[in-house]
Amino acid sequence: MNSSLVVDVAIAGGGIIGLSLALELRQRGLSVAVMERGHAMSSASWAAGGMLAVNDPQNPLKLLPLCIRSWALYPSYLARIEALSGRPVPLRTQRALQEQKPEGGLGGTATAAEIAELAPGLDPGGHSFAWLDEGSIDPNDLREALPAAVRAAGGTLLEETEVLSVETTGRGIVVETLRERISAGMLVNCCGAWAGGRRLGGVPVEPVKGQMANLRCAPELLRCVVRTAGVYLVPRGDGRVTIGATLEHAGFDETVESSLIRPVIDAALRLLPEASLPSPLDAWAGLRPGTPDDLPILGAAKLENCWHATGHYRDGILLAPVTARVMAQAMLGETPDVSLDAFSPARFGSD
Ligand SMILES: Cc1cc2nc3c(=O)[nH]c(=O)nc-3n(C[C@H](O)[C@H](O)[C@H](O)COP(=O)(O)OP(=O)(O)OC[C@H]3O[C@@H](n4cnc5c(N)ncnc54)[C@H](O)[C@@H]3O)c2cc1C
Repeated sequence: MNSSLVVDVAIAGGGIIGLSLALELRQRGLSVAVMERGHAMSSASWAAGGMLAVNDPQNPLKLLPLCIRSWALYPSYLARIEALSGRPVPLRTQRALQEQKPEGGLGGTATAAEIAELAPGLDPGGHSFAWLDEGSIDPNDLREALPAAVRAAGGTLLEETEVLSVETTGRGIVVETLRERISAGMLVNCCGAWAGGRRLGGVPVEPVKGQMANLRCAPELLRCVVRTAGVYLVPRGDGRVTIGATLEHAGFDETVESSLIRPVIDAALRLLPEASLPSPLDAWAGLRPGTPDDLPILGAAKLENCWHATGHYRDGILLAPVTARVMAQAMLGETPDVSLDAFSPARFGSD
């Protein structure tokens, strides 16, 4: 017989989005339970590069206000997680070299002398780069820290607890899992690439696979992110340089295929010739929650008392603090810091 739990808000999905929202709601005094099918922070939120790429030219323009607000929230977000968990989550880099078109457009072109200071190991080849003031974190740092912070804040985190069904009642919702029945005032769908499942309301989220790898390199040779159209390099400051990523529509497959990651590795080695590839290959894959317009889905679902916070595609690490904040504001009837009009689930007509 299932045991029973009663909370203000039930959150489906224990990735960075669900857990960050749980923290924000706890800060506002609400009781929360996060239900995670597997282990928290083990899906896209662990696989990610960790770039906080506010001004990535590949981002849709409509995303910019959310990106800017989230980057502004990052210092207090990390400080809170560190204070609650007792684990450090540092910014591993504070600047990025972004490839720009020969005609410029991103700001001043980085000079050879500037590049030599933060990236003496970089061989720019034919690329022209501009500096961006953006940070990066190592998602591995959050893997333990974020779940610990949620628990320390008084949130309930139920792992190996898959949401099987959701029913609305007059006053809230009832969530069935194999282990527990959870009654809550509201439910939030934070299931990442799996958020489109019918039982969670049918939003158009599709998995977009990304394969990643670690190179080894003396830390002083690269101390900033480097991003070109074909590859990015994210130094961790300890000899690892995380590189990525492929963009594949391959369903829910999460296997590494060396024939597909190899061109990414070759492009990275051309930019950082003194780096080496560990043997065996240190590579992995994750599933980005993609949407038809590359924008997240944030707002009320059709189903009463249910909400969506998903579809963060390539930027969920960056967007976690602002998502937590604007979702909490919307759910509590406040005006969100950033208008959610462009991110409404209703824009697809499906939910
Ligand atoms: C290769 C790669 C590189 C990336 N690089 C970056 C980057 O540099 N910067 C950046 O900002 N973003 C990056 N991203 C994007 C970022 O990782 C995602 O946008 C973000 O992690 C999404 O977080 P999430 O919590 O929505 O999803 P996830 O972390 O995938 O979490 C969703 C969770 O829901 C659980 N779940 C699913 N169904 C159920 C159910 N029925 N019941 C209970 N639980 C369920 C899953 O088990 C999973 O743990 C990258 C992603 C990938 C794959």
